This record gives sequence, structure tokens and C-alpha cells, in this order.
Amino acid sequence: MQAKGAGQVTEAHDSAVGEHVPAQPKKAKKEDKTPNPVKVAKPVKAAGAESRLGMVRRARRTNRELAEVYPYAHPELDFENPFELLVATVLSAQTTDLRVNQTTPALFAKYPTPEDMAAAVPEELEQIIRPTGFFRAKARSLLGLSAALRDNFGSEVPGRLEDLVTLPGVGRKTANVVLGNAFGVPGITVDTHFGRLVRRWKWTGHEDPEKVEADIAAIFPKSEWTMLSHRIIFHGRRVCHSRKPACGACPIAHLCPSYGEGETDPEKAKKLLKYEMGGHPGQRLKPPPGFPGEPAPPLGATE
Ligand code: SF4
Repeated sequence: MQAKGAGQVTEAHDSAVGEHVPAQPKKAKKEDKTPNPVKVAKPVKAAGAESRLGMVRRARRTNRELAEVYPYAHPELDFENPFELLVATVLSAQTTDLRVNQTTPALFAKYPTPEDMAAAVPEELEQIIRPTGFFRAKARSLLGLSAALRDNFGSEVPGRLEDLVTLPGVGRKTANVVLGNAFGVPGITVDTHFGRLVRRWKWTGHEDPEKVEADIAAIFPKSEWTMLSHRIIFHGRRVCHSRKPACGACPIAHLCPSYGEGETDPEKAKKLLKYEMGGHPGQRLKPPPGFPGEPAPPLGATE
């Protein structure tokens, strides 16, 4: 798989050298063993005074190119049903999906249904979810939402935003994750990665997640919302990090007005890539089919 931008660089290079250069015998290239080798396009800064139409076109093109870079983008929490996804999403606050995925197998083995979890001894529940941090507050949320599911929704996770946000510990972001990935309802997930990237790309100037969501919803059709969210979050976790974005190894650098905010040296930038992009395991212990990396290690294994 090759990012579009990489192809453009190759074409430009080929046309520049043209027919006057005698053909040279090609050196055998070293095979890149990375599941998803990064091909980087030449960065082009967006014009200072970009029109709204120009920004929308650039945004849609970025989405198309991200789809080529991450054809396997998916939610990075392991789950088998809507209840598990809801619980895992609540646990994912202030920690990594990896840590949640390493914690939930024991949790769901002990409390597979809302009734089971609602009847849990709080201290026992707290001990199981302890690795995810803020475990007392999270245990309270899980006990409260399980009891609410049992008492108000027949022990089923509701498929409507207005019902989901009535559950303890469930805000709009969590509700959208559950709707998008367990019910197929289009949703935009404005987490820390999503917000940071769309601001770097000048798709929005807002910090407030609801305003960000509204701005992005105005750029893309509903049918793109869920996958767009996965692609952006994938890119934020692997390449466009908060403190050290790997600009020199970024496959969409040519579409990014913030190119240069991070490391631009290609070799140094490559070392900053994470998960399968850096040749490391992913976050899911049970990754979906098509994921090119290794599964994450279980809790306690060397990471
Ligand atoms: S890594 Fe750099 S070039 Fe790539 S999207 Fe982030 S800021 Fe832009």
C-alpha cells in the first residue's frame, strides 16, 4: 500500500530528470519489513489566505489519503458487544486503549452483563480496573451505569444519544463512540488526538469539542464521520503526536499547514512512529482482520 502523496513525489522526480539522463542500473532496495512502510511526500505549506472552499477541498483530500494510509483504521478498544464497548470507553479516560484492553478480559470474565456488574462488590471491581487509573471514580461510573442499564433499559445498551448521555460517566464523546461502533450510527469522536489534528490542519479554530464537532460535521458527509474519526485518531497516535509530531515521516505532510511543528529529519522522524507504523505491536489484544501489525501483549507481559 502506498500513500498517494508518495506517488506524486515519484512522478515529479521522474519528469524532472526526463529523457536526457541515461538509464542507470537500479540498486536493489533493502526490503522494509514494517507492516505499513511510510512513504513521505514533499511537504507543501498551505497558502496563508486559504479560502473556505480551498480548506474544504484540502480536508476531503486529506481524508481520502488517510484512508489509503490506514485502510485498516478501527476502534482500538477490544469489545464483543455494546455493553463491553461502553464499559471499555468509560475506562479509557485518562489512559491508553492498550491499558484498557489489557484490563478488560478479567473484568468481562467476572461481570459479563450489566446485572453482574451492578451487583459487584465495589472494592473487588476497583481492584480489577485499578491498572486503568482513577479506579475509584471509574468503578462508581461502572456501578452506576450498569444499574441504570438494568433498571431503565432492560439491561440493553440504548442506541440513542439522548439515552446514552443519561448514564453515569457517559458524555457525548463516549456516546458517539458507542453509537458509531456498536450501532453503525455516524458519529464524530472529538478526543484529544482528533481536536489537536484538526486544529493543526486549520479545519477549525475551536477548542470546545462540541464546536469542533459542528465544524467538522459541516465539512464531511455523515457517511464519513465514523471512519474519518478512526483515521484521524490513528494518525494522531502514530505520527502526529502531541509534543513531537513526526513531520518528516508524515504521509500527508503535503496537505498540512503545520508541517515543521515537529521533527522534519526523515530518519529521526521515523523513529518517532508508533504502533504498526513503527514496526511495533498495536493496542488491541484481538485486532480485527486486516490489521498489519502484531497484537498487543497481555497485562504484565514485557511491552
Ligand atoms: S505530523 Fe507534522 S506534517 Fe504530519 S499532520 Fe502532523 S503536524 Fe502535519
